[in-house]
Amino acid sequence: ADIALDLARHHPHAHQRYIEGQDERHLRQLTLIRDLRDAVSNNELWMAYQPKVTTQTGQVCQFEALMRWRHPSLGFVPPDEFIGLAERSGNIRQLSQWMLEHVAAQLYQWQEEGYRVSVAVNLSASDVSDSRLARQLADLLERYQLAADQFSLEVTESAVMQDIDAAARTLEELSQLGVSIAIDDYGTGYSSLAQLKRLPVNELKIDKSFVLKLDTQDDDLTIVRSTIEMGHSLGLRIVAEGVENAASAALLNRLGCDYLQGYWIAKPMPSDEVAPWLNSVEPFIFTH
Ligand code: C2E
Ligand code: MG
Ligand code: MG
Ligand code: MG
Repeated sequence: ADIALDLARHHPHAHQRYIEGQDERHLRQLTLIRDLRDAVSNNELWMAYQPKVTTQTGQVCQFEALMRWRHPSLGFVPPDEFIGLAERSGNIRQLSQWMLEHVAAQLYQWQEEGYRVSVAVNLSASDVSDSRLARQLADLLERYQLAADQFSLEVTESAVMQDIDAAARTLEELSQLGVSIAIDDYGTGYSSLAQLKRLPVNELKIDKSFVLKLDTQDDDLTIVRSTIEMGHSLGLRIVAEGVENAASAALLNRLGCDYLQGYWIAKPMPSDEVAPWLNSVEPFIFTH
């Protein structure tokens, strides 16, 4: 069934409102939902890779894989827009499956070229509550001859809280495989570390909203400092995303943050730029 038409049928005045141009945003959403279903088969998706560095050595330790979509007529659509639509229209599992297979194949290719890369992928609520996920990942690791530590998973607090029992089961299976698990966008949800500690979590990723202006905002500094302290005391590694300048990088290093990610290190890049970038990059130095 055509989801856009289906939605329109349930909102009888929708059509008229489009004609009047009053709800262009809604029309765009319906178009995106409809076209997203063919994005995989039409080859409109690809992955961008953004590095993370270890503060201990200043060296690259991992890349995060971020999904990209170029719509045939609307052009580039940001994941913050289409991932949510895919989640709500029940299409996210298809995208995640394509993504996992694609990333595994990419890791295999890098390995063949002599680069042993580790990648973190983002998962949604329906992924982590799907009991088949761990088996699927195990199968990928085997088919592409990858070690479990080359894969790690990022899930948001809200994704695990949607069905915490199902998430706990899936994450437990994944962690048995040896895959490491990070809580993404930490600080923006309503969960407590006490709740999250019930899950086999290895890493907290502090949301970029606390990091972007870290060098000038005292409140952000206080939040980040206490998150790092609390996280460490619970045995978690801490990642900061959204590191945009040297001052913030130096602060985070001084606060004991384990890993840094952000435009100051590198923006997400297409897969074919990863090897040349790795070849030319010098260890990062966190002084200001
Ligand atoms: P996220 O996982 O929290 O990813 C971080 C986002 O911050 C990325 O945006 C990244 O490009 C951006 N970013 C990184 N460093 C900086 C910086 O220094 N400054 C600023 N201003 N931004 C920075 P992006 O690629 O647009 O992705 C947005 C979100 O979409 C992701 O947030 C993630 O939740 C979701 N997403 C992306 N790819 C996938 C995917 O394959 N599956 C799922 N389920 N979600 C995905
Ligand atoms: Mg992420
Ligand atoms: Mg994040
Ligand atoms: Mg985010």
